[in-house]
Amino acid sequence: QDKIIVNYESKPAYSILLKKDFTGLKEALLNLGLQNRRFLVITDSNVEKIYLKECMDLIGPISRGIYSFTFEAGENSKNLETVKLVYNKLIAKKFDRNDIILALGGGVTGDLAGFVASTYLRGIDFIQIPTTLLAMADSSIGGKTGVDFMAYKNMIGAFHQPKLVYMNLSSLKTLPKREFNAGISEIIKHGLIKDADFYKWLQDNITNIQSLDYETLKQMVYRSCMIKKKVVEEDPKEKGDRALLNFGHTIGHAIEKLMDFQLLHGECVAVGMICAAYISNKRGFISNDELECIYKIIEAFNLPTSIKDLSSEEIYHVTRLDKKMESDKIKFIYLESIGRAIIDTSVSKDEMIEAINYVQ
Ligand code: ADP
Ligand code: ZN
Repeated sequence: QDKIIVNYESKPAYSILLKKDFTGLKEALLNLGLQNRRFLVITDSNVEKIYLKECMDLIGPISRGIYSFTFEAGENSKNLETVKLVYNKLIAKKFDRNDIILALGGGVTGDLAGFVASTYLRGIDFIQIPTTLLAMADSSIGGKTGVDFMAYKNMIGAFHQPKLVYMNLSSLKTLPKREFNAGISEIIKHGLIKDADFYKWLQDNITNIQSLDYETLKQMVYRSCMIKKKVVEEDPKEKGDRALLNFGHTIGHAIEKLMDFQLLHGECVAVGMICAAYISNKRGFISNDELECIYKIIEAFNLPTSIKDLSSEEIYHVTRLDKKMESDKIKFIYLESIGRAIIDTSVSKDEMIEAINYVQ
């Protein structure tokens, strides 16, 4: 289980490789016929220090030229100003349609580099080497790329599928624990919305996951990707069921915004999932025990289970401003049972306020 083939419009589009180190990267590129091309490796200031040289040294010999572009790590760089700097570099180096953008880093790098690749010369090839758990288990699938614009997250973007996603699972060893746990949040989400067995497996493997046991990590990332793959393949442009992936995100996004991005995305989603699970419980879909279990697994990964500094009214108000809202109704996602989520537009203000009060 070290390869996943992702389809797009019912045809195989690219592979995701799950490996223990970077040594298979060269071979993977050769297998795709990507030799004698030029590469721009886009990375952030943290990842540059740890992994850039190794990647450049591996790809350099099979390329026709390799360059790098580093931006200041953090969501604050994910904007059109940074995109403009990359375009300048691509133009200065005379990159053409045969050349390749390679994203080396987390979700921020993937979104930004993917957006550049999707727009430069109306689209050039794109390769992803995700180095955060979030990027591996979640954002490496689905083809969403983009940047923030003014106060709006991911407001400007495009769908652009990579040619290859190469994961070196050992790179998670250098990832700060807080970032690792934030990635777990989306993985728990995948279990809760689609796969009760996987959710159970996560509960049974907390210790091995936290100690970064290689086989456990591989299985976890593999299963998480398979769930996301299935959802995305059935609904690539988010016309229907892909919205299930927004479980925990309605309230999560509002908290993220109100906290001025002090909390990590996955941390906000964790609190949002507890709220959504609370609503499932109040509506009689999941039991008190099941609600408590969700609370406990989130706590076990040191993710926040409460949010103290914001008022419920404030949080509720911001959920109403979310760009994913259609015709004034919040498309709320809650659980019908563990492993099965549904979209419902009938969740009332009172229900949401009560759920937010539960995490205060
Ligand atoms: P995300 O993947 O959660 O969307 P980022 O791309 O901003 O977020 O990555 C989170 C942080 O982790 C950034 O500061 C980034 O530089 C850092 N980082 C990414 N991958 C690694 C790694 N393998 N080792 C150490 N730090 C990393
Ligand atoms: Zn998310």
